Amino acid sequence: MSETTRHSRESYDVVVIGAGGAGLRAAIEARQQGKRTAVISKSLFGKAHTVMAEGGAAAALGNVNAHDTWEVHFRDTIRGGKFLNNPRMAELHAKEAAQRILELEYWGALFDRTPTGTISQRNFGGHEYPRLAHVGDRTGLELIRTLQQRVVQLQQADAAELGDPEAMLKVYAETTITELVKDGERIAGAVGYLRDTGEVVVFEAPAVVLATGGIGRSFKVTSNSWEYTGDGHALAMRAGATLINMEFVQFHPTGMVWPPSVNGILVTESVRGDGGVLLNSERRRFMFDYVPDVFRSHYAETEAEADGWYSDPDNNRRPPELLPRDEVARAINNEVKEGRGSPHGGVFLDVSSRMPAEEIMRRLPSMHHQFKELADVDITAEPMEVGPTCHYVMGGVEVEPDTGASLVPGLFAAGEVAGGMHGSNRLGGNSLSDLLVFGRRSGMGAAAYLDELGEERPALSEEAVAAATQSLLEPLERDSGESPYLLHQEIQNTMNELVGIIRNGPEMEQALEALAELDKRVAEVRAEGGRAYNPGWHLALDLRNMLLVSEAIARSALRREESRGGHTRDDFPHMSSQWRRVTLVSHLTEDGVGLRQQPLDELRPDLLNLFERDELAKYLTEAELAMADARKE
Ligand code: FAD
Repeated sequence: MSETTRHSRESYDVVVIGAGGAGLRAAIEARQQGKRTAVISKSLFGKAHTVMAEGGAAAALGNVNAHDTWEVHFRDTIRGGKFLNNPRMAELHAKEAAQRILELEYWGALFDRTPTGTISQRNFGGHEYPRLAHVGDRTGLELIRTLQQRVVQLQQADAAELGDPEAMLKVYAETTITELVKDGERIAGAVGYLRDTGEVVVFEAPAVVLATGGIGRSFKVTSNSWEYTGDGHALAMRAGATLINMEFVQFHPTGMVWPPSVNGILVTESVRGDGGVLLNSERRRFMFDYVPDVFRSHYAETEAEADGWYSDPDNNRRPPELLPRDEVARAINNEVKEGRGSPHGGVFLDVSSRMPAEEIMRRLPSMHHQFKELADVDITAEPMEVGPTCHYVMGGVEVEPDTGASLVPGLFAAGEVAGGMHGSNRLGGNSLSDLLVFGRRSGMGAAAYLDELGEERPALSEEAVAAATQSLLEPLERDSGESPYLLHQEIQNTMNELVGIIRNGPEMEQALEALAELDKRVAEVRAEGGRAYNPGWHLALDLRNMLLVSEAIARSALRREESRGGHTRDDFPHMSSQWRRVTLVSHLTEDGVGLRQQPLDELRPDLLNLFERDELAKYLTEAELAMADARKE
């Protein structure tokens, strides 16, 4: 073995790539099922999007409004996703989210309380009842803290029993996986590098769980941090798995817009959930102008009714500021386009005129701190300026709902990297509950796969390891080539400008051409410097993932000729019932990303019965509606 290809080699039953909520919950489960498990994270342990989650985790505990049940949560989720969600995933999620929150409490999570001492729940867009279990606006921090504490508990038990805290569950921080390796059709392990030394690491494992989160860094304006380059999506595709629904990207309506250095940083939906209102330059609550027909009967028509809802939700309808995110983002986009925006190209989000300063400080401490520190704005005294920011990807690895298994034997996925659960648009709060429910299920799925596998395990060949090692070292070995930073900027600009919040056919074709050109240039990218702590090299490796994911997004978005959820086309501005049951599946071909169509599973009659016929008529084709009627009879 040459000096450059020398590597350390570790062997596990299950390797979990990603240490956010989904990864930690999967790793805990696999370890609890008796499997020797590694959990790997690209950044520091505990630094993941999950820790940044502010508003809360949605679960029908029914603590604040006793009418809430899993059925209502299921209905809201399907409505939010515009009837494109995988029905089985949405059902499992709605049924199991409450158990997962209570389990967290049992493991030590300290949620905010109601006056009677139960877990408090707050309002969020698209949720019929107050449903988000929260800890002020720092919920993700408590969630990660609790899961990490559970990891430590399990490690302490292993120390006592086996003499080594890492005997059964080991964390590898600042370790990036760049390739999955297979033996024939089956997963055999993963290859990556350590950030601090650049040393190559090889993990031999028959089961790999992807829990790598999102893709936001492919867009210029994003709430996502540097790790979110779509690695898991790309690793899965390169290993032969499929992605679904990649055209659906969520632009959160409220990111910071000023100063430029913080453009895109998230302003939590809790600001609106707790009473904040959106105003245009005329200081008018413009969201009343943007309630679409499909939601009209559920939303207030006057400010008095909207304001009345906060204290008397049984006799008033919800404020339109709490429409699902896709609706609010499009409305803000339109106000700005029509010249009614704020000075820096957003709109105003005001909480200062809605509640006393002490109340704002109690409910939204992080937001107060964020605006004071980053923009010198005191949100207790003046409005914030906000605009849409790329936030979440609904599309992801196609998985079997009950186990998280992808089409590749031994490869599982959970959390944001998995597709299907949220349909065309995710409701706020449904990600934290998604990652708990499906993180656990994928850990169980991986353990069950191993039990079936028995003693006969896939082998990790030295040739495959050498090829993966070679490709990760290439950018460092080139004598010439472009800077990864410039190429990254071009990908981000292409996606933001041509495949952003409002799309059309010619622009997306232009984007695909630009991405194809960038693909050639990225193949020759050069990273200067050595292997130790070299962010330019790391970015050079991330670029090919961003490109692959961007191509999947652009191709799927060009193919879907309608507007729905996180996919809006001004050349096809309406939702089409013909497209509702079409799932676009992305897979890797020799010429890049290929697409095929497959039908979405039908809703079972008992689940269909949760909706009024009038509502179904807005989404289903005539034939589907007739079938639904026949099944109801
Ligand atoms: P993440 O928590 O994103 O973790 C991904 C992990 O994968 C990280 O450890 C990362 O280092 C690792 N990783 C990635 N690539 C690699 C690689 N190649 N090799 C090794 N490791 C890798 N959702 C809600 O439900 N409620 C909220 O209130 C909420 N607020 C949010 C606020 C912000 C600012 C943001 C950005 C998101 C928010 N979301 C919220 C969304 C939610 O936080 C995320 O969707 C969710 O946390 C994703 O969890 P995950 O476990 O799938 O991945």
